Amino acid sequence: MDKINRYPTDAEAKEMIVEIGRRMYMKNFVAANDGNISCKVDDEAIWTTPTGVSKGFMSEDELVKMRLDGTIIYQGKRAPSSEVKMHLRIYNERNDVMAVCHAHPPIATSFAIAGLALNQAIYPEAIVNLGIVPCVHYEKPGSEQLPDAIAPYVRDYNALLLANHGAVTWGTSLMEAWYRLESTEHYAAVIMYSINLLGKANVLSCDQINELIQIRKKMGISSGGVPSGILKPSNLTDSV
Ligand SMILES: [Zn+2]
Repeated sequence: MDKINRYPTDAEAKEMIVEIGRRMYMKNFVAANDGNISCKVDDEAIWTTPTGVSKGFMSEDELVKMRLDGTIIYQGKRAPSSEVKMHLRIYNERNDVMAVCHAHPPIATSFAIAGLALNQAIYPEAIVNLGIVPCVHYEKPGSEQLPDAIAPYVRDYNALLLANHGAVTWGTSLMEAWYRLESTEHYAAVIMYSINLLGKANVLSCDQINELIQIRKKMGISSGGVPSGILKPSNLTDSV
């Protein structure tokens, strides 16, 4: 674990999960009982969201505490989501990951339905916060095959689209995982507006991208991938 980050207490983790659930629901990243959130509280255990509950209306006593091997330590009235398998796999692939968020934000999910990765070098914040967001092939939500499909990408990236399903993000804190989910939806929206609606996007040059990657490195982030740029900048003239 990063020296700067400490594990949240059980009480802090539960409070944050309920709050992020509310934000997820209010931002229309989920409908009905979709989505799930988890947060590590020590080397072996996470708190996560229950199955069959709206993320906008959760209470702390509904959350589930589990070990990274899937054993349940505490559960209220409901079992954990079947999609928690995906979270457990991410924690087991990368021990610096402290939290995972999964939802079905409509624009990112539309890219996932089209089988398109978010990989356009058009927007500095997306390059710093995410890099590339690959789109992983379809596996049934909640299946054993879905964790296997995402595993090869967990070490090198910060977020994934799941074909015909949604998006999953992770980070060294619950806020970072949540911000990456917000950034993923924002990145998808900006690609859609510029490339698909306006029909024009000036791609950043390799040098402009490199400057942003240096910022990301200074933030201590080495994962995310680098989208490809063009040789000569095309965005240096004013338009009046
Ligand atoms: Zn899902």
